[in-house]
Amino acid sequence: MDRNVAIIGAGVSGLTCGIVFAEHGYRTAIFAKETGRQTTSGAAAAIWFPYHVEPAERVIPLALDSYQMLLDLARFPESGVSIIESRQFLRTGEIEIPDWAIPLGASAIPSEVENGAAGGAATWTGRPEAERMGSERIKSRRAGFNVSPRDPSTPPARAGSAHDEHCFASGFSLRVPLMDTTIYLDYLTARFGKASGEIHANVRFKKLEDVDAKFDLVIDCAGIGARELVNDPDLEPHRGQVAIVPKIESLSAAIVCDEAPLMYAIPRANDCVFGGTNEISDNLMADRETTSRILAECGRVLNIDKPTVFAERVGLRPFRRSGIRLERDRLRDGRTVIHNYGHGGAGFTLSWGCAREVLEVAVSSW
Ligand SMILES: Cc1cc2nc3c(=O)[nH]c(=O)nc-3n(C[C@H](O)[C@H](O)[C@H](O)COP(=O)(O)OP(=O)(O)OC[C@H]3O[C@@H](n4cnc5c(N)ncnc54)[C@H](O)[C@@H]3O)c2cc1C
Repeated sequence: MDRNVAIIGAGVSGLTCGIVFAEHGYRTAIFAKETGRQTTSGAAAAIWFPYHVEPAERVIPLALDSYQMLLDLARFPESGVSIIESRQFLRTGEIEIPDWAIPLGASAIPSEVENGAAGGAATWTGRPEAERMGSERIKSRRAGFNVSPRDPSTPPARAGSAHDEHCFASGFSLRVPLMDTTIYLDYLTARFGKASGEIHANVRFKKLEDVDAKFDLVIDCAGIGARELVNDPDLEPHRGQVAIVPKIESLSAAIVCDEAPLMYAIPRANDCVFGGTNEISDNLMADRETTSRILAECGRVLNIDKPTVFAERVGLRPFRRSGIRLERDRLRDGRTVIHNYGHGGAGFTLSWGCAREVLEVAVSSW
């Protein structure tokens, strides 16, 4: 096809758009300051879930479209996509299964007391299929859940530890795609290259009009960088910090609590991602105290000793107060630009749906 497409950004949004355009036969080049794992995308836990992004009526269809694409990719282990059970919890109150999660098989997590008064622990039994409650509010059978990665039949390792406290009040479970960023971003890069896409790294544009005039279409996937690039004051850096720790053999499901303090433990093929934080800040430096707090909370919930930290990662979620920006606009020189940024805490979750919509918008303008 006789079109030259330039994409700004080599995070998950830019790479996925790149693949969609290149595989449709367009000459596609990506330009970016940082690429792949150096981007915000490289710091993400990267589990599928429409977290911290607006507005729901816009993003849910995009998320569901991406879900299907990622489900297909999970058939190829080399993609770094796998399907994992994600357990979403609240520390207090009753969690509600969102309507969109029901067709995906979401179900309430029952809690049961196994050890009785002597053991004192309300132990996780993990039978999500046991209760299918639709969008009704769910009440746990007992006052609290406790989530342990350990086989419930084995006794707690540290008697009297925080394991005996009730960590969660209610939860639901759902099977979702998990993108291991240490594999997935390289997979996207290689797939883009295979479709004859070119990546130009270490290129920083001050404005979109600086993109070479030979490109008919410019696609803006600059993440938080769009704040300066297109002067968008609606975009806020919602900083997230995670700690990468060794694989926890007995942890097979992702444990997530979006309530403050944000907590998640996401097992990957070779390690585990502990999180997290969400605050408005531009600071890309990892903070020791924050890592300690993350380790303490994850350790408390999982009932494990403090693990070694392989790495600390920080990224700035591109949160846009007025919602994601996926729309066509015109540059001062008359060329078409399609903006695709502002995906907040859900850039992976929305990536394929957004990329396919960007293509539709482009084709309808030609
Ligand atoms: C700790 C953490 C955990 C997360 N967990 C999840 C999760 O579990 N699931 C999920 O779906 N999402 C998650 N997210 C959110 C997700 O990471 C982001 O939504 C996503 O990475 C945004 O991708 P992007 O490609 O739009 O932006 P980025 O990854 O930030 O990429 C932007 C690209 O644009 C380039 N760029 C910017 N400005 C310019 C310029 N002027 N000139 C040239 N290039 C430029 C950058 O160099 C970069 O290549 C998480 C984020 C964080 C921080």
